[in-house]
Amino acid sequence: MNIVFVASEAAPFAKTGGLADVAGALPKFIQELGHTVCVFMPFYRQVKQGKEKAADTGKSVTVSIMNRKVTGRIFQSTLPNSKVPVYLIENDAYYDRDELYLDRAKNTDYADNCERFVFFSRAVLEACDALGIRPDVVHCNDWQTGLIPAYIKTLYAQDRAVSRAHTVFTVHNLAYQGVFWHWDMKLTGLDWGLFNWQQIEFYGKLNCLKAGLVFADVINTVSRRYAQEIQTPQLGCGLEGVLQERTEDVSGVVNGIDYTVWNPETDPLIPARYSASDLAGKAACKKALLELQNLPHQKHTPLIGIISRLAAQKGFDILEIALPEIMKLDLQIVLLGTGDRKYHELFEAAAKEYPKSIGVNLTFNNTLAHQIEAGADMFLMPSHYEPCGLNQLYSLRYGTMPVVRATGGLADTIVDCIPRTLANGTATGFVFEKYNPAELFDTIRRALDLYRRPADWAGLVRNGMAQDWSWHRSAREYVELYKKALAKS
Ligand code: ADP
Repeated sequence: MNIVFVASEAAPFAKTGGLADVAGALPKFIQELGHTVCVFMPFYRQVKQGKEKAADTGKSVTVSIMNRKVTGRIFQSTLPNSKVPVYLIENDAYYDRDELYLDRAKNTDYADNCERFVFFSRAVLEACDALGIRPDVVHCNDWQTGLIPAYIKTLYAQDRAVSRAHTVFTVHNLAYQGVFWHWDMKLTGLDWGLFNWQQIEFYGKLNCLKAGLVFADVINTVSRRYAQEIQTPQLGCGLEGVLQERTEDVSGVVNGIDYTVWNPETDPLIPARYSASDLAGKAACKKALLELQNLPHQKHTPLIGIISRLAAQKGFDILEIALPEIMKLDLQIVLLGTGDRKYHELFEAAAKEYPKSIGVNLTFNNTLAHQIEAGADMFLMPSHYEPCGLNQLYSLRYGTMPVVRATGGLADTIVDCIPRTLANGTATGFVFEKYNPAELFDTIRRALDLYRRPADWAGLVRNGMAQDWSWHRSAREYVELYKKALAKS
């Protein structure tokens, strides 16, 4: 099959979250399975300034936006350690900015995000023609590419490059929908006839994610549990009806992990390497991390890592309430994250209040993320909802036992440590069901109890490190989805 993978970010070129990890890895594994695949993303400033080289293809695309002709050159790079081409759509007015989506000065989305991703979506389809690519499947991801399935079935229904393409639409987070005022319909070039409640209108506005859900041949999300959860009013974000309508076409494929990047045996970003059979390096990583964070090293005190966007989705509202009690326990915390100002303030205050117990890093820092995965004993993800979650999977490989809430991908990937699962070797972490501060606190305490039993703890770490969440498994499931899409008329 010829697969075109479209995403608004891909690691290592530009990343704000898990989507980038998927876009930077999955295509390589699809290619390994014998398919032709390429990736499209915008040529952001971050990509231009980054380490990966990009060459001008000499080709460009032109898209009509209202009465203007907007052009963009197409650059080409490759996903590292692979032969997967990455096509970068250049348009400096849209993409040569400080951030990918957010206007830092105003702390809101860029006012022209609709136009930026309308252009990108159409530019990708135009670029297929310009580059001679004839996709069987266009795999779109998240709202930024949600209009593409609609375009293929309408404006591009006669296009020589893409009219035959089938579409898969993966939702990495249903809460981000790309909702814009109705006049932005004019930017899309789509017929106003589509602006109705069964297609791309949503409470009087244009909803790009909904367009993907309605028009894609196959809908996918990043865990089985989340695929079910988004069909309920609790986590459907107002789109549960649309998803229920298409329930036969909705599936969930858990993300894989790129073990060439996240592997304590080879990781160049951590101070010492280690494996399940020799954990000495992990102790060295912990010591180095504590030193880096200016925290005292107490051999028997467990260290909890947190790496996250600082948003309520990730459980920081219940953590805030439970924190004073948690800090009375014998533990230390290292946090890395950026996000809501409210949580920046919370953790700045906590760092002052508990200088020997909490290390706070309010930045985005990939190297430190690796060092925390390696140096911590436990990893906390008390998410309210979590489509897949990647850090719990990295944590397993680094022997850093996840403490998670049973939602979405966390529920699908972590097995709670209870006497039975510990005995039969299936336990991989600590899981709580109800989203409240008391359950969070109790679960941390359970983890600390086990930590004080070194033989049992070592057993749990071994189970965790033996898990295989590589892309090989997920890539096969994606190929099945592509076949399912192809079978649609
Ligand atoms: P989401 O996409 O909802 O933010 P995921 O767990 O799917 O959450 O993916 C988050 C990714 O971003 C992980 O690879 C994580 O390590 C990384 N990450 C999040 N915050 C930071 C940060 N402040 N510094 C470095 N990496 C981060």
